[in-house]
Amino acid sequence: AYKGPSLDECLEIRKANLFPGLVTFYKKPVLIHQGHKQWLFDHTGKRYLDFFAGIVTVSLGHAHEATTKALKDQADVLWHTTSIYPHPQIHQYAKELTDRMPGNLKVCMFFSSGTEANDLAVYLSRIHTGAYDVISLRNGYHGAGGTPWGLTATSVYRHVTPTGFGIHHAMNPDVFRGPWGGQSCRDSPSQAQRSCRCAPGECAASDKYADQLKDLMMHSTPKRIAGFFAEPIQGVGGTVQMPKGFLKKAADLVRERGGLVITDEVQTGFGRTGTHFWGFESHGIIPDIVTMAKGMGNGYPLAALVTTPEIASSLSKAVHFTTFGGSPLACAVGRSVLKAMDAEKTQDNCHKVGTYLLEQLMGLQREFPTWIGDVRGKGLMVGVEMVNGQGSIEKGSGRTCSIEPIPPQIMADIWEHTKDMGLLLGKGGVHGNVFRIKPPMCVTKQDVDFAISVFREAIKMSLPRL
Ligand code: PMP
Repeated sequence: AYKGPSLDECLEIRKANLFPGLVTFYKKPVLIHQGHKQWLFDHTGKRYLDFFAGIVTVSLGHAHEATTKALKDQADVLWHTTSIYPHPQIHQYAKELTDRMPGNLKVCMFFSSGTEANDLAVYLSRIHTGAYDVISLRNGYHGAGGTPWGLTATSVYRHVTPTGFGIHHAMNPDVFRGPWGGQSCRDSPSQAQRSCRCAPGECAASDKYADQLKDLMMHSTPKRIAGFFAEPIQGVGGTVQMPKGFLKKAADLVRERGGLVITDEVQTGFGRTGTHFWGFESHGIIPDIVTMAKGMGNGYPLAALVTTPEIASSLSKAVHFTTFGGSPLACAVGRSVLKAMDAEKTQDNCHKVGTYLLEQLMGLQREFPTWIGDVRGKGLMVGVEMVNGQGSIEKGSGRTCSIEPIPPQIMADIWEHTKDMGLLLGKGGVHGNVFRIKPPMCVTKQDVDFAISVFREAIKMSLPRL
């Protein structure tokens, strides 16, 4: 049984001794005590189905047996030594990780967070190309520290201090909110994906967004750029998928100007999208640099940057090093995660259960067509964008929904009710109106059925009586 401080005591300490910017979820937050597979337990023993996995991080499941054993076994022998001394784990892991990469992406550097990996990616792109300008997409998230703070382009993470000198933000190819439609052109495992703003078969959106990128480079950068960052599916931004073809077009434009293409796989990597191990693979490109974190350690702080030997060699003129990156403990965990992903066929499960989840959510959308504006995603990386169902039918347009966000109070009520009924969902998007669903990859169809019934009830309980 739980013997620690009460929820109220923790909240008091939080108020007094932790940064106020460190927000809590929910009006009445949950004090999490234990985890097992796809479940979390609070201090009273109440069970929650975890559909957010610590922001996509607990990839295999909480307290996963094999990864816990790998961690303990390594901890008994050696916790830490500098990676300057060769120890076996970092070498074995570097080989096993880069074996999963296509092309010439064979060289890696380990870190403890995604922010650090993206920080090096910016630096490396500049050193390698001799150019300075870097582009990321609006609504993207690449970290809240160092240079990546400037790559991150959402007001939720902005203060008055300028960040990211030399970084430009291109128009986000958001096919739900953007002006050119294109919802039917995004990569969906379900043919049932319907759209409320896009004419069927419209595919021109990716060209229009690529034109915007071109325009930005023409006006705001010199003739050469250092790099271009994209998440294959935006995570924090609210599971935003670009129209098919955009990333390929963007990569061509960037490379024409000497820039490197960097995909941030912090959320999309390790099989999460179901059809592929890496998010970029669905877009038909091989990036020059790939960054990853979160799910690679199943919750243990572990991150990496992978690139080609040629690009990596640009950094060999000086020492480059971090204290914790590539520690024996981290690499032992990372290796066991890869092994378990194979043994448990987690990518397959993401595809099967994720597609089922999407279809069930689309069914729910048909029940609440004016409130659920968009259901999107791939594998177990799913988003449900809530819109204002009151008076949102655009007269004469034939469209069933608008993009005006659901009133925050109704969103908060739905979220609170799902938690009270034992389901933890994520939330995101610049308007805070997107439910983000990214469970541990071991979830089942039964879990989806439970989640859908809770979600349905929570919506019914929260919508105004019309
Ligand atoms: N990139 C993406 C896509 C992310 O989602 C995050 C974290 N939410 C980061 C980078 C930063 O990773 P970290 O918090 O480990 O620094």
